[in-house]
Order: sequence, then structure tokens, then C-alpha cells
Amino acid sequence: MTRTPAPRPVPIASALGTSQLIAAVAALVITGAVLIAYQLLDMRHALTEGARVQAAIVADSVTAPLMFGDREAARDVLRAFRYAPGLRAIGVYDQHGQLFAEFSYPDSQLPARQPDAGDSPDDVVTVTETVRHRNTVLGQTVLRTGTSQLRTAMLRYLGLLAVASLLAMLVVTVLSRKTRARVAAAERKLEYMAHTDHVTGLPNRHSTYARLAVDLERARAQGQQLALLLVDLDNFKVVNDTAGHAAGDELLTQVAAALLGAVRATDLLGRIGGDEFAIIAWPVADRAAALAMASQVTQALRRPFQLESGEFFATASVGLCLYPDDAHSMSELVSSADTALYHAKHGGRNRLAEFVPAMTVAAQRRAALERELRHAVDQQQLTLHYQPQFDCTSGALVGVETLLRWNHPEHGLVSPAEFIPIAEDSGLIVQLGSWVLHRACHEVMAWDQAGAPPLTLAVNMSARQLREPGFIDDVMRALALSGLPPERLELELTESVLMEDVAGAVAFMQAVRALGVGLSIDDFGTGYSSLAYLQSFPINQLKVDRSFVQLLPHSGETVIHAILALAHGFGLTVVAEGVEDQAQLDWLRAAGCEMAQGFLLGRPMPPQDFAARYLALPAAG
Ligand code: C2E
Ligand code: MG
Ligand code: MG
Repeated sequence: MTRTPAPRPVPIASALGTSQLIAAVAALVITGAVLIAYQLLDMRHALTEGARVQAAIVADSVTAPLMFGDREAARDVLRAFRYAPGLRAIGVYDQHGQLFAEFSYPDSQLPARQPDAGDSPDDVVTVTETVRHRNTVLGQTVLRTGTSQLRTAMLRYLGLLAVASLLAMLVVTVLSRKTRARVAAAERKLEYMAHTDHVTGLPNRHSTYARLAVDLERARAQGQQLALLLVDLDNFKVVNDTAGHAAGDELLTQVAAALLGAVRATDLLGRIGGDEFAIIAWPVADRAAALAMASQVTQALRRPFQLESGEFFATASVGLCLYPDDAHSMSELVSSADTALYHAKHGGRNRLAEFVPAMTVAAQRRAALERELRHAVDQQQLTLHYQPQFDCTSGALVGVETLLRWNHPEHGLVSPAEFIPIAEDSGLIVQLGSWVLHRACHEVMAWDQAGAPPLTLAVNMSARQLREPGFIDDVMRALALSGLPPERLELELTESVLMEDVAGAVAFMQAVRALGVGLSIDDFGTGYSSLAYLQSFPINQLKVDRSFVQLLPHSGETVIHAILALAHGFGLTVVAEGVEDQAQLDWLRAAGCEMAQGFLLGRPMPPQDFAARYLALPAAG
């Protein structure tokens, strides 16, 4: 179990529930108020209209009794209206405004004199109608209808409205709950995705560094030590490229599980990059404890991982940095752990490097070299040295390998082993490599023109160059400009370069071979040495690494015999690198190795020296 960041509240979902409910209630209140007002006005209007019709009927019916002063007949007419709904009183006044006849319920009697228009109790609606006979006004009919029925109808209406509102609220609440649950689930998922690596389920880069900031503060406050480990898988790209991304994901998951097994429950393991993990161990007792844990981590990966597509090894390089001994701030801690990781990787991988201050010096030198390297080409600080290659049987000079040199104004000759990786990391290698190719083709052709025998030219290539879209065009340009025949150019690639992107490498190699240019695998035996790729890669030559050659003639024969048999089986020629003594050369010749190169036969040297020494050309050539 690792400490995972505490889940944050789900703001949208909760706000959504409350705001939906408030909106629904507000809508209901406003709609209800409008409906009630409208209903009240409508009902009052209907009541008044009804009363007016009744009053008009009465006015017609009492014309004769009023004309003849027959009060009894008038009362009979009025009594006929006693069942009219809501009627409180109905009366007839003569033309002098005196009550002539009346029908009324107790407490609702009409006054003896005709009341004024506004002179009416609150709970009744009063209407007046003129009684006429041929344009002569005979009197007035006054009718009063109680508004209690209006109240009852309104109460009924209100009840109905309340029931409808409650039902509506119920529906809204149910719907809002459902929406809220869905939004909350989506928010939780987003939250998870924002902080978790979906392949391994570990905290992602963002989350890991956020955690580091918190842990560092706590370690500072409590005066404790904290260790940061950066773990970078060595050959992850190979697994991805050869077995596919599903296998890559499976491997990452298994590696994550293995790492979790190697750390304490309280430590945090996060995936911070494609094949990079970080471990925050806090608190750690001392450096020894941190180192013990780091070596447990490297140990945990030194075993095969069983994937569906087969068995894979996933060794890792580990960089370790301690707070407060090695770094004080978070950025210092991360960059120092990164520097240590860089050393572990460039020190041969599958190892643990503990940060030491000297590394910063090395990193600074690297940074300075990188800056200066940018100007080295323009300032003509770069030159090429040439090392001869000989036919083992005839002893004839058959080719040269060109090796880059940097004549640094302060540091003197800087080894390509130091500055080529810098150029590769910074991308400068593309420009440098192109310069080497053009320059070497040009210099070799200059020897040709001076009468030298036709030598093959071997040029070292880096992965970055091969990935450059214009690379093949550049090779064609170098050949065309110098006039070097394509079959005399040999590009040297290392196994690791090819394994970084197998499919891309095959396509690239086919394009090179289509030009007629040769391809050889440099430092063969130090990388993957996979038999499968020897068959699928369109190469024509292997260069046995000098680490094997140097064991000769007393040991290492088996390996070189095997390499020779393998290469010859695939129809490839073999060049032995690093031949330093005669016994080695004799052994190689006897074993059937085609070509040899090494200090015994000739060291890399400037072109003028090479021309003078091997081509018998004047030193100026
Ligand atoms: P490499 O291509 O394997 O070159 C052979 C290296 O072995 C050279 O080192 C050479 O000086 C050294 N060597 C040759 N014979 C002997 C011997 O008998 N004994 C010993 N101990 N060493 C011998 P160098 O020139 O320092 O180059 C190192 C590496 O730098 C090269 O290894 C190559 O990978 C890289 N490199 C050099 N020039 C270039 C370049 O122009 N482009 C690229 N991408 N890489 C280059
Ligand atoms: Mg080489
Ligand atoms: Mg080599």
C-alpha cells in the first residue's frame, strides 16, 4: 500500500444539487403566485358578470310591478332568485331611491335608501341595474353576491397547486439526486485520472511531486531525513518495440508491483514518466538505511518478468538523493536525484548511483560543454581522425574509420565518448553528424584524387541522426558533392541505436541499402546481440567489440568463434576492433575474420598523417 493523496471534495456535484433545488423552488413560487393572481381575478370577474346578468333579469321582471306600485308582485319576482348561488340580497329602489321591495338573508338587509356605488361591505360583490320603461327610468335593482364561494374555490385551487408543486418538487429532487450522483461519479473519475497513472494505478508525476513538496515540508519541520529515488527502466523501449505496447503496459504494472514490494507501506511510489518511477521514502534513519532500501529496489527488478508474450528483464538505473544532506530545496533534490540517475545510466545501466557533489561539477561541465559544442563547428575546433582497417589475410589496407575529435581551447582534446552523448542529448548530433559525413567523404575523395587506392569509409551514426527526416537525402548529398561511390561508404550503427525503434530502423536501413551504401553493427556483442535482428536487419558487416578481442588469444575464443560462425551464416563480413598485439591478429586471421582495426595496425590520426603514412601521399594531401 502506498500513501495516496487524500480525495478532494466534489464541488460541482454538491453545488449542482443545492442550486437545482433553489432554482426549482423559486420557479414554483413565482409560477404559483402568477397562477393564483390570475385565478383570483378571473373568478371575481366571472362572479361579477353572473351577478350582472341576474340583476338585468330582475330589472326586466320588476318593470311592471314598479310601474303599478305592486310591491307584492315585485317581492315574488325577487324571491324567485333565492337559489341563485352566493346571493346575499336583492332589492328594487324606486326612482326616488326608496327601497321598494327586497329579498335578503339575515345580516345582509339592504338599506332603506339606495346605497352609493362604493358603499358596499367587503365580503360581497354589489351590482346595480337600472329599471326602465321606454326610456323612462323607473328605479334601480341592487344585487349583492357573497364572495365566500370565491374563497372556497381559491382554497381548493391553492390545495391543488400545493399538491402539484409537491409532486413537481419530488420529481426534481429525484432527478437532481440522480444527476448529482452522476456528476459526483464523473468528478471522482476526473480526480482519479488527474492524479493517477492509469496503467499502474500509482500516483502520476503531478501527484508525486505535490506529495514530495508536502513530505519535504514535514521532514523539515520534524528535523527528519527524506530520500528521493528516481528509478528508470533500462530497456523498456525494447519491450515496447519488440513485444508491443500491451506487453509494455503489462511490464510496467508488474514492475510497479515489484517496486511496491521493495518499499515500506509508508513510502510513496509514483510513475513520473514513460519508464520512470519515483520513490519518496520518509523518514529514513540515515544514508545507510536509504542505500539499503535503494539496493532492495534494484534487486527487486533483477529477475525475469513473466508477460503473456514471454519472459522479459526490466533492470533499472536508480538515482538516490537525500534531504537534507545532499539538497535543501525540492528543486535541488529533484535535480540532484536526476543527476545521480544520469550517472547510473551512463555508467552502464542496471545500477544504483548515490548523489555526490562531484556529480554537480560533472553536470556543470556537461552543460558548459554543451554550450561550447554549439560553436565548435563554426570555430573549426572539430576535426576528424582516421584509423586504418586491414584485410586480415592479405594484410592490405582496405578502409578507414573516421573518428570525431574536439580540440577544445581550454580542455585540449575532448574524447568523443564524452561529447557525443552530450551532442545526442541536446540534438546537436544531427548537425555534427552531417558535418562529419560531408567532411569525411570530401577528405577520402581528396586522397583518391591524389592517387590513393580506393578505400571504404566507415562513419559512426547516432540514433538521433537516423530519426531525422532528411537524413537519407543528406547521405545522397554528401555522396554527390564529394563523388564518393556509395558502395565505398559504410555507416556504423550500434545495437542499442537499432533496438530503440526496430520497425523504424529496418525501414531506414532498407533506404540506406537501396542507395548502395553499406551498414555495419558497431561494438557487436556489448548490446542485445539478438539473433533475430541479424536476420531481419539488412546489414552487411559486424564489428566485434574490442572487449572480446582484447581477451585473445588466451580466452574469449569461444565467443569470437560463435560470432564469426553466426556472421558468416548470415553472409556478413566481420571486422575485429581494438587489435593491440600480434597474437590477437594471428588468432583472428586463423579463425577466418575478414578485417582488423586497432592500435597494433594504426591509431586514429589526423588526415595529413594518415595520407603520409598509409597512402604515401605528401603530408599536405
Ligand atoms: P567506435 O566507433 O567503437 O570507435 C572505436 C574506438 O576505439 C575509438 O575511440 C578508437 O580510438 C578506439 N580504438 C581503436 N583501436 C583501439 C585499440 O586498439 N585499443 C583501444 N583501447 N582503443 C582503440 P574514440 O575515437 O575515442 O571513439 C569512441 C566512440 O565515439 C566511437 O566508438 C564511436 O562510437 C563514437 N564516435 C566517434 N566519432 C563519432 C562520430 O563522428 N559520430 C558518432 N555518432 N559517434 C562517434
Ligand atoms: Mg565505430
Ligand atoms: Mg566500436
